[in-house]
Amino acid sequence: MTVPTITLNDGHTIPQLGFGVFLVDPQEAERIVSDALEVGYRHIDTAAIYKNEEGVGAAIAKSGIPRDELFITTKLWNDRHQKASAHSAIDESLDKLGLDHVDLYLTHWPTPAKDDYLEAWLALEEIKAAGKARSIGVSNHQVEHLEKLIAGSETVPAVNQIELHPAFAQRELRAFGAEHGIHIESWGPLGQGKYDLFGEQAVSAAAEAHGVTPAQVVIRWHLQNGLIVFPKSNSRERIAQNFDVFGFELTADEIASMDALDSGKRVGSHPNEVN
Ligand code: NAD
Repeated sequence: MTVPTITLNDGHTIPQLGFGVFLVDPQEAERIVSDALEVGYRHIDTAAIYKNEEGVGAAIAKSGIPRDELFITTKLWNDRHQKASAHSAIDESLDKLGLDHVDLYLTHWPTPAKDDYLEAWLALEEIKAAGKARSIGVSNHQVEHLEKLIAGSETVPAVNQIELHPAFAQRELRAFGAEHGIHIESWGPLGQGKYDLFGEQAVSAAAEAHGVTPAQVVIRWHLQNGLIVFPKSNSRERIAQNFDVFGFELTADEIASMDALDSGKRVGSHPNEVN
């Protein structure tokens, strides 16, 4: 199964489908990430705050997969935005992952009340220059935060990783990203199981029509919308199911009826309220 790649604004490529490990128990991370790598995922999305970078690193080491076939993302936590602290944070993450660089390093939240996200971004530019991250980007940034980074630095973020699913489709940030060359990564792509997305008629009808599961339909919706997506599951069966999404295609009508589910309702926190 070949996962499509997307070319980022710095020329590096990223597999469009990956595996996320938010809320994966550190004790279980090695087993679960090993399952994902065996299934065929080559893109793993973790973060310092998930406290499972060591397990991710152990699974990578055990897999024997050549480093250049893997795409590993981690994230700088909110209390490490000061330059010196950010530099030690990437070293700590690399040490836990057992890697000499990550493919993508993100600032996790802008924490606007502290007004230090530009400083964090300038630190990420230095981390990229030092070869410790191939690409750099941000997460949970609103338009005003992106504008400040673009005006105040030499680098346009390669990605913005934001809450995004059919019920919260983030049209404004997607349009801004398209205009500025910032690719969008969808977090909580399945709505984190916090509302009955799979029970929506638009989703269940498409699942029935294609003989697939509602989760597979929703993952296809992200892929066909050009979004980068990394659903999370602890179960090997679902990990495999979520990867098996290249044997069917949603029709334009099916996509349109899922687009119509956008209610502007988040399942997670508003970025301006995380400080
Ligand atoms: P998700 O939308 O991927 O949902 C995960 C939930 O869906 C789990 O409860 C799982 O049991 C269920 N699920 C998975 N596959 C299923 C299937 N085939 N059938 C039925 N149920 C299924 O939510 P997420 O994990 O929060 O988001 C994905 C990734 O995004 C995370 O693991 C993490 O890497 C990233 N993330 C980033 C941020 C951020 O602030 N940057 C925040 C949250 C998540």
